[in-house]
Order: sequence, then structure tokens, then C-alpha cells
Amino acid sequence: MYGPGDVRVETVPDATLQQPTDALVRVVRTCVCGSDLHPYHSRPASAEGSPMGHEFIGVVEETGAEVGNVRPGDFVIAPFAFFDNTCEFCGEGLTTSCLHGGFFSTAQAEAVRVPQADGTLVTAPVGEDSALLPSLLTLSDVLITGHHAAVTAGVGPRTSVTVIGDGAVGLLAVLAAKRLGAERILLMGRHKTRTDLGLEFGATDVVAERGDEGIATVRDLTGGHGTHTVLECVGHLPAYEQALGVVRAGGVISRVGVPQYDEAPAGRDLFGRNITLTGGPGAQRPYIEELLPDVLEGRIEPGKVFDRTVGLDGVPEGYRAMDAREALKVLVQP
Ligand SMILES: [Zn+2]
Repeated sequence: MYGPGDVRVETVPDATLQQPTDALVRVVRTCVCGSDLHPYHSRPASAEGSPMGHEFIGVVEETGAEVGNVRPGDFVIAPFAFFDNTCEFCGEGLTTSCLHGGFFSTAQAEAVRVPQADGTLVTAPVGEDSALLPSLLTLSDVLITGHHAAVTAGVGPRTSVTVIGDGAVGLLAVLAAKRLGAERILLMGRHKTRTDLGLEFGATDVVAERGDEGIATVRDLTGGHGTHTVLECVGHLPAYEQALGVVRAGGVISRVGVPQYDEAPAGRDLFGRNITLTGGPGAQRPYIEELLPDVLEGRIEPGKVFDRTVGLDGVPEGYRAMDAREALKVLVQP
């Protein structure tokens, strides 16, 4: 990415092993993320450009001398962060805070160097022609992110939920909330094809209005009080303000859309109504291990969020189509 709206496909030096803990993974599927659209709008233009992409599944081609958990030929899922899975934060399941970790940024490519391969990569018993590839790819980011929103908010059978945002993360937050037993799930979104998929994933109500009107509608639907939990899957300030408006007293707001703001109300309204604010990056290895069996056994089909497939040459068009909301989420088959 060279600047706003400027994505180019280029030949760059091959990814190679650099540390004995690295693996080299050939990318079988990657994709364009809603969070890639933030720099697509606002990253300052640069002459060098930046590689892009943080979601991928693929096949291990080569491993460093200290890698023992994966070997060449293994089909693997990589979350959007890498981690050793041994430090004190990893031990608590918070792999995105790994003392030796970081975040991927070069996945829209033919191959990726994976640091901390033993901790990071999760193997899956599938072939490169598996029909499950789109769903497995959601374990790299959008499904585990939606699940993270639901888990950190404390969604369970007795919890009412508002999901803000009808992008891929919002829709999979619906699926995750349903999977955790929520009986009432209100999806706030305006794009009918997307909210229809949200209904299929388990939403019970769709609220198309936004802002004060949307808040009033959610309150009308919930006896005037709002919902126990709000999963904010957008990242812009108006979405957070909407979350404040629809959360019930004593409730929880979990944000998993990357905030595009530094300052937001967190004062008396949160305090006076005993609101908890949580959320953050959801690339936690235990989520993949928990959700993978549901994908492999077909209990959930999160891959339905992909509605377009391109080759690497089609990536610039993929960004454009997602930005124009012509595509919900673009799958890339290198
Ligand atoms: Zn760690």
C-alpha cells in the first residue's frame, strides 16, 4: 500500500527463515480485512509502500532448527499475531501480549515468514482443496475477533446482546454470541444482504437506524433499558457512542473494532451506570483451539462471510470492492 486508495501488486524478495524458531508458510488463502480499509483511507502516501495483510492459512514449507510442533507439509492456521505460547502472558491465554510476540503485516502474499512458529501455528487435518478453507481462514482473525468480543463481554445464555456493525467481524460476533447461548441478539447494521446473513448466524432483531434513532430503537426493543452486553465491531467514535447509548446499567461494552480515535467519553456515564469497558485484539491461541472442532465438524460455517474471491493480481480490486461495500469480505487465492 502506497497511500490512500493506492494498492499495488509487486514482486519482492522471497520470505526466508531468519531465526531458528521461524517457519516458512506458503499461503493457500489470505484475505482483505476491514481493518485494512482504515489505512486504505488515511495512511500518508509514501514512496516505499508497506506490505499488507495479517490473515492466512497455508502449508509449512520449511522450519528452523528449533521448531518442533510443525513440520514441512503441515496445513496450518496462523492467527493475526505471533507468540511463543510459553511466556507468562501466553500462559494466561493472552497471546497478543506475548513478551516475544508481534503482529503479522505481510500476509497478502505467496509466502510468509512466521516467527515463533511453535507457539503461533495451529495445524488442521485438511488438504489444500478442502471446502472448509474459507471457514478455517476466519480462525485467523474475524471469527476469533468476534468470539473475543463475546467472551470478554461475558455473553452467555442469560445475556442480551447488541452487535454494532454488519461487517464480517460484526456478523461473526453474532455467530459467536449465538454459539455461547445468547437468546436475544440485536444486530445494528444497514446493509440488508449482510444483516440477512446476520439473521442466519443467529441475530433475533435487526436495527437499521443509527445514532440517537438507533439507540431509541434498541431501547424500545429491550424494555427501555438496553442490552447486558454490546459488541462494538466498527472502531469509529460514533459506534462507541452508540454502544454507550444501548448498554444496560451494569452492562459491558466490548470493543474489537480497532479504535480510530484516542479520546472518547469514559467518565461519569460509565461510572454512574456501572458500565464495564473491555475488548482489544482477539488473536488468542486458545480461541482457535476451542473453535476449530466446530469448524471441522460443520457446526458453524463462518466462511459464509466471504462473498468474492480474487487472485493476488485482484487484491487492489478487492480493496476497492470492500471499500465500496460491493463485497463483504474478499478471499484471496494466491
Ligand atoms: Zn508469550
